[in-house]
Amino acid sequence: SAGGTDALLDGLNPAQERAVIARGPALLIVAGAGSGKTRVLTHRIAHLIREREAWPSQILAITFTNKAAAEMRERIDGLLGEASQGMWVSTFHSACVRILRREAERFGYVSGFTIYDSADSRALLKRIIKELDADTYGFTPANAGAKISRLKNELADAGAYAATMNASDPRDRLFVEIFTMYEQELRRANAFDFDDLIGQTVHLFRAHPDVAAVYQRRFRHILVDEYQDTNHAQYSLIRELTKPVEPEEVAGLMPPARERELDASGRIPPASLTVVGDSDQSIYAFRGADIRNIVEFERDFRGAEVVKLEQNYRSTQNILSAANAVIGNNFDRQDKNLWTSEGDGEQIVGFTGYSQHDEARFVAEEIEDLHRAGIAYGDVAVFYRTNSQTRALEELLIRSAIPYRVLGGTKFYERAEVKDAMAYLTSIANPYDPIAWSRLLGAPKRGIGPMAEAHLANFQEAQGVSFHEAMARADEVGPLGPKLRTTVRELAALLLRAARMAAGGGASDVAGEEAAPAPVGDVLKLILDETEMIEKLRAKRDPQDDARAENLEELLAVAREFDVKQPGAGLLAFLTEVSLVAAADDLDDSSGTVSLMTMHTAKGLEFKAVFITGVEEGLLPHQMSVDEVGGISEERRLMYVGITRARERLYLTLASTRATFGDVSVAMPSRFLQEIPEGLIAWRQSPGEVTGRGGTASRALNAPRGSGYGSGARGTSRDSAVSFGSGAAGRGSGAAAVSEPASGNMQSALDKWRERKRQ
Ligand code: ATP
Ligand code: MG
Repeated sequence: SAGGTDALLDGLNPAQERAVIARGPALLIVAGAGSGKTRVLTHRIAHLIREREAWPSQILAITFTNKAAAEMRERIDGLLGEASQGMWVSTFHSACVRILRREAERFGYVSGFTIYDSADSRALLKRIIKELDADTYGFTPANAGAKISRLKNELADAGAYAATMNASDPRDRLFVEIFTMYEQELRRANAFDFDDLIGQTVHLFRAHPDVAAVYQRRFRHILVDEYQDTNHAQYSLIRELTKPVEPEEVAGLMPPARERELDASGRIPPASLTVVGDSDQSIYAFRGADIRNIVEFERDFRGAEVVKLEQNYRSTQNILSAANAVIGNNFDRQDKNLWTSEGDGEQIVGFTGYSQHDEARFVAEEIEDLHRAGIAYGDVAVFYRTNSQTRALEELLIRSAIPYRVLGGTKFYERAEVKDAMAYLTSIANPYDPIAWSRLLGAPKRGIGPMAEAHLANFQEAQGVSFHEAMARADEVGPLGPKLRTTVRELAALLLRAARMAAGGGASDVAGEEAAPAPVGDVLKLILDETEMIEKLRAKRDPQDDARAENLEELLAVAREFDVKQPGAGLLAFLTEVSLVAAADDLDDSSGTVSLMTMHTAKGLEFKAVFITGVEEGLLPHQMSVDEVGGISEERRLMYVGITRARERLYLTLASTRATFGDVSVAMPSRFLQEIPEGLIAWRQSPGEVTGRGGTASRALNAPRGSGYGSGARGTSRDSAVSFGSGAAGRGSGAAAVSEPASGNMQSALDKWRERKRQ
């Protein structure tokens, strides 16, 4: 199979080739972004298999995200056919979940354990802090959670921390109590938090050498991508897995070890280890990532070979120059410069919106233009620093009928509890809607089973009345028992009251006076209060339910925001807006989708066109980093990671004002923008001026465009109305591009709609 091997080495530069064929016990590949580190790992795995030096099942490849793992798998299969079957290509977390699920009984856990994400564990901590009155000592779910996470990443549990703490400090003692209780609650819930997954696996291996031996023997080749971001727990896991199996453990292995597995002293020799990394891309210090792991690799793994890669194969020189310029401002690094032989490419495009909606609109319109120019949606990514930035982006993408998906997050309107609450509002607006009605009957559970539902539905149909009226007349529905009748009548009363409120007219205290329709927020508040949906979730004492309760509170905030933006518009308008925003379910993947993600998630990925949004002080660098030692350097590395994802086109966008938690504040351009040489960026004046349709206009960084926020008077080249109800918001109708900020356009479109209704 010599020809096959040559094919694997074809198209590699000499340094890359060396890294693919090296066969020492340990190999370190250090290189800048886009220099082929991941490609080398992939080819190395393929080479090992093609040369019959390893079975797929003997390989453990660790990547940083699930998406990266899927991509690596795909690339290996592309090189060898279905070779990745049986191979472990996964993140640290999912590799550990697999191990823990197999070995759970060793801990007194059940294999079906729950994994708490950070929202879940914060919710659990919130309860604990309340119970211990620890908030009076300044503890918050966020700061206690961060500290616990840091300790777990150092493999310290509450007991270990208690042994080293300052016992005369009441705050420290209280923290130990929080930590201890947190551990107990997790165990009681048969749950692990994210950090546990790795830490507990390490503990498992240390406490049970026989279990460790199984994995030490199985994985003969361990390869770790993005090694610069490993923390102590992850490092320890690698150390455990790369230990030899000592003779006393060899004896217990099933099936018994064969002669050829053993070395001269009767041990199974350690797995070979390959790690690749770039210290300029270390962005997880906040999770305990330790650059020293890469710096000290040679000491830790004696006999390690080191390969350096220099040439970049991903991006244009303009993009690389921007990346070099930004990262060059970090002083604590080895100087290295990314270069390519591919030429300068397009200028970087800058855009300042006057609000985040305006910024999002630019992004959406630009994506459409790229699409028309032949760049597939799947080749486009939009990055942001914090998840809170997604809502404005999602709204504009939906309205522009651009298929997208959010990596690493469920869409807000798809969450069950949000749908539950929306079912009430939908039913209030349309008491004949069977779907919404059926959903609200069971949310929250009130004992109305499928039989009762069927009887009510039959009655409703027979009488030709609304579902609400059918429920109000529950006494006439023969088969229902007396208790159930009461429940149903009470629910009907609530819905009728809310409906009157929403319609206006009936809710006034002053007799004879017509009341205006109540704000949507008030209607929703009534529903949430009367059904006790939030309280019931909170009372379940399950952190996941706490997170759900918070989503309902967020929905209430969305409604209130709508009421402020469109006073008097009413429930139906709100439902229309939400359904437009939520209509993104029916996306198929064949045409590809735009990827939305945080910059942390973007690590290791590449896209033809990349938008980095919110390039503002306070967001990027993030406010929280500013006062932290090394915080700005880390944010700069994050910016570097973001920039180096782009292959051909890079956009840097910001808004001159940004609303957070209902406050609108003036935003300043990020210092990182000023670090990029001016000539590399073309500042775009308005979305009308697109490459190939007019020049680029340079302008002051932060000068707001147009006549100010909320003004509906600015025409652009692509004014178009949004039509409601039908297919206009669906995919493929590129003409539904929105050229006004969300609220303004919404308003005028609604006016037109009402006009039509009146006629
Ligand atoms: P990052 O630091 O961002 O993770 P990386 O060093 O892992 O980057 P890769 O993703 O492996 O870089 O490679 C970047 C791009 O360059 C990929 O599209 C890859 O296929 C391509 N590439 C790498 N080496 C070569 C080569 N020798 N010839 C042609 N293309 C290459
Ligand atoms: Mg990579």
